[in-house]
Amino acid sequence: MALVVQKYGGSSVADAECVKRVAQRIVATKKAGNDVVVVVSAMGDTTDELIDLAEQVSPLPPARELDMLLTAGERISMALLAMAIANLGHEARSFTGSQAGVITDGSHGKARIIDVTPGRIRDALNEGSIAIVAGFQGVSQDTKDITTLGRGGSDTTAVALAAALNADVCEIYTDVDGVFTADPRIVPAARRIPRISYEEMLEMAASGAKILHLRCVEYARRYNIPIHVRSSFSQKEGTWVVDSDDIEGRDMEQAIISGVAHDRSEAKITVVGVPDKVGEAATIFRVLSDAEINIDMIVQNVSAASTGRTDISFTLPASDGQTALAALNKVKDEIGFESLRYDDRIGKISLIGAGMRSHPGVTATFFSAIADAGVNIEMISTSEIRISVVVAQDDVDTAVAAAHRAFDLDADQVEAVVYGGTGR
Ligand code: ADP
Ligand code: ASP
Ligand code: MG
Repeated sequence: MALVVQKYGGSSVADAECVKRVAQRIVATKKAGNDVVVVVSAMGDTTDELIDLAEQVSPLPPARELDMLLTAGERISMALLAMAIANLGHEARSFTGSQAGVITDGSHGKARIIDVTPGRIRDALNEGSIAIVAGFQGVSQDTKDITTLGRGGSDTTAVALAAALNADVCEIYTDVDGVFTADPRIVPAARRIPRISYEEMLEMAASGAKILHLRCVEYARRYNIPIHVRSSFSQKEGTWVVDSDDIEGRDMEQAIISGVAHDRSEAKITVVGVPDKVGEAATIFRVLSDAEINIDMIVQNVSAASTGRTDISFTLPASDGQTALAALNKVKDEIGFESLRYDDRIGKISLIGAGMRSHPGVTATFFSAIADAGVNIEMISTSEIRISVVVAQDDVDTAVAAAHRAFDLDADQVEAVVYGGTGR
């Protein structure tokens, strides 16, 4: 008998019919002789709707209360799913993140899991029940307050439970047939990737491919949990995210590039006219880190000889934009910069592939493809297996499609299907 953890995303449980369909899938897995633990997201776009609602009553809702509100979305779907399973004659018990033993730090909205103590889940399984767990939430070890893990965090709940329960597999059910070479919503010719290594998937997730939450992939790599990403709307085999040693023919057949990711969620801040003195950059980024803001790309121009001043640009999550501007403005006189420029109409395109380590010319091909598409590159950053560029947000779709084509990733026949979801 195997222990299977299944996670169903919002589009898979968007309405009552979907909940009933998912219940049938779960019961089929149980009937096949497995112990089943299910992690469920909020129905459809519930989380976005709850955020909109919060913003209508307060422009900057207190983080503790926002978490309390958002976790309600997952409570609705977990209870409905347990009811639908009961209606099929099987016993299911739903648990909040806290009841399931998901212990986090106290950082509201982006809490980190520090321990998982799934005693009640084990008891439910031992008594023959199917356990349903609310995704994306936990309880703070220090404050005992309810926390959330950040948008898309139900994937991480699933992998963390799979690790704590020593599950055989973690299946992530979504609205596409797996991980593709680009988001099928903008590149219909994208191909499904049958197997992808943790490290490439990490770069894809970190570069904005929201098919998997970044921390879920980090967790899976650390505990060596195989993830099977697949559609809840079809029976097709999806994508296996596994250790690179478990990918056959890795060196011979593996494409140089595994995929193109894009991210529209970042913004760019330019600190204009920073005096070219020792320690200025350190002060700027200290201020931002004290405000708990994660910086992505950084570009510092050569200072103009005539003024002895320089501009420093960086990207950050757009959701932290206002906080960052306020924090920097507080130290304007201390640093002596001239002004701040803010642009949230940017997008990031990233090319990912372990093969680029040993293949020169990838960067040139990537930049040429973007140039030929008439798109201007504003910033560039690289890692060992990734190249990212920032472009105007309106150019994202064109640039992704151009890069995808340039590396021969387009499928001959369109196989990518988007079964549901609104792409919100
Ligand atoms: P869920 O609600 O199931 O968690 P998400 O919306 O978080 O689903 O993630 C699935 C979506 O991720 C897909 O509908 C697709 O638009 C998007 N996506 C982005 N990049 C990729 C990619 N490389 N492969 C597959 N899907 C991708
Ligand atoms: N419901 C949460 C969100 O929309 C968590 C998740 O779906 O993973 O971000
Ligand atoms: Mg998701």
